[in-house]
Amino acid sequence: MNYGKGVRKEKRLFGLKEYTFARSLEQADKLLHGEKGNVILGGLLWMRMGRKNHHTGIDLSKLGLDQITQTEDKVEIGCMTTLRQIETSQILGSCFGNILTDSVSHIVGVQFRNCATIGGSVFSRFNFSDILTALLALETQVHLFRGGTLPLETFITLPPKKDILIKLTLKKKAWKTNYQSHRMTATDFPVLAAAVTYGEDQWRICLGARPSRAILAEKAAALLPEKPDEKQIGLACEQVVEELSFGSNQRGTKEYRQLLAGILVKRGIEDICR
Ligand SMILES: Cc1cc2nc3c(=O)[nH]c(=O)nc-3n(C[C@H](O)[C@H](O)[C@H](O)COP(=O)(O)OP(=O)(O)OC[C@H]3O[C@@H](n4cnc5c(N)ncnc54)[C@H](O)[C@@H]3O)c2cc1C
Repeated sequence: MNYGKGVRKEKRLFGLKEYTFARSLEQADKLLHGEKGNVILGGLLWMRMGRKNHHTGIDLSKLGLDQITQTEDKVEIGCMTTLRQIETSQILGSCFGNILTDSVSHIVGVQFRNCATIGGSVFSRFNFSDILTALLALETQVHLFRGGTLPLETFITLPPKKDILIKLTLKKKAWKTNYQSHRMTATDFPVLAAAVTYGEDQWRICLGARPSRAILAEKAAALLPEKPDEKQIGLACEQVVEELSFGSNQRGTKEYRQLLAGILVKRGIEDICR
């Protein structure tokens, strides 16, 4: 487009001045804090939609951080693990049921999920995030290079700060889980996302894309005994709407989301009790 007097204004695109493969986490950290515009790269799917020009892009893909492993009491997911690996992992399926598969299976398409990383997804703390909703309903710890280890529910409330998300750990329990989202079309962003879990005498109910960020409905979960009856489920669903805030955006109104919240949580609890 011409802006007069022969001045041609180019549309700015995402850019990197330099690209480097980190040889260690220590080197990646040093680089990240070395220059203002240096940045950690995940699968680049979100970043490249932006128009920011960065200095050095730091690629962690040669550090072996793309593994899902387990010990006796926990499962570890490296930051470069793709959403597709999460979707198809036998370890995650056997420890947590379908919750993680169901939370990512609507994200764009298989080719996209083959590239998008869990590090980029969690570090970005998107309000619409399916995977954050599911991970919050499991007991997830976030491991940061500088920030140390902290529960996911704490991490998502912190202001953005340069750091490296190294891995996630998820506690093993006799989990029963359910994940549902409501979308206008199969691969659109969710109108509302709901994850319900039960493990070791404790329910966890998490609602995401409200449209604000995923959050646990702790009071509602505390109302539920191990095997709730219809009335107790109804009261817990009412409490979810009471204790969490919902809002409106182009995908749905506050009232629509409140209605959906009750329905998705009820289905989730009933599925787990079946
Ligand atoms: C078109 C489109 C549709 C989408 N739809 C959905 C959806 O319906 N549901 C949903 O949940 N998600 C959705 N997403 C988000 C997607 O699933 C990923 O979360 C997103 O692409 C980020 O992952 P990435 O690997 O591409 O990260 P990148 O784009 O590479 O990075 C994102 C940010 O995270 C930082 N980062 C990356 N890795 C690390 C790390 N290890 N440590 C510290 N910082 C890091 C980067 O510096 C950058 O700031 C969508 C994304 C797109 C582009």
